Amino acid sequence: MFQRKPLIAGNWKMNLDIDESVRLVKAISRGIKSSETVDVLLAPPFTSLSAVRQAIGNANIFLAAQNMHWEKKGAYTGEISAEMLQKTGCTHVILGHSERRSLFNETSEMIDRKVQAAVHAGLFPIVCVGETLEQREKGQAFEVIEDQLVVSLKNFREDQDMPSSVILAYEPVWAIGTGRTASQEEAQKMHQFIRGWIRRNFGVETETQIRILYGGSVKPENVADLMSEPDIDGALVGGASLKADSFVKIINFK
Ligand code: PEP
Repeated sequence: MFQRKPLIAGNWKMNLDIDESVRLVKAISRGIKSSETVDVLLAPPFTSLSAVRQAIGNANIFLAAQNMHWEKKGAYTGEISAEMLQKTGCTHVILGHSERRSLFNETSEMIDRKVQAAVHAGLFPIVCVGETLEQREKGQAFEVIEDQLVVSLKNFREDQDMPSSVILAYEPVWAIGTGRTASQEEAQKMHQFIRGWIRRNFGVETETQIRILYGGSVKPENVADLMSEPDIDGALVGGASLKADSFVKIINFK
């Protein structure tokens, strides 16, 4: 049977300067027990990417950016391209995080363009989807997630092919930074729904290969329960990834 290797990803958001980033990555690196059983990824702010890449050295830690633009270059003040990230040592990029969607008006159409540009440049996109509390309470959660998947992955659907380098992240907006985690059953139900959607659109092989991460107040205390679910293949961690102690406990959840 195909085994999806768990991925524990830390999204540092707009936190930590270069020195703080380097200190944190070194402490995390010392704490990882085994990179055989789990993949580890860090997404520092743009300004720390190069220094973190250097501090990673030969440790088995993947480097990600938190966003990018879909164009290769040009008059896009304040933006960064996939190629630039790739040359800085990034292997992954987080796309469509709910903070980008809600605070910076990113639409699923824009995310689809970014996903295509990332894959084209050889980056692994981590594509985030998630419903708000209001949408969940109105019973719209599954519909909202399906809509986000349909549009954010439109180009792949048209080709009926999605590369196995794509990683999806289910992050219920009401669980991000709130301390309120989806129960493991709620999370599994949505992950199973997403996996079914992948099967219907891309077939069984892709369904088995694609990793689906859960994000939303993941902590050392709840990671093992979440990870015991069959369709949860890792975690996208915000707050708890900013402290070596808690992030290392999450990484070594087994
Ligand atoms: C996130 O922002 O991706 C996230 C999951 O944050 P937190 O872990 O702090 O809820």
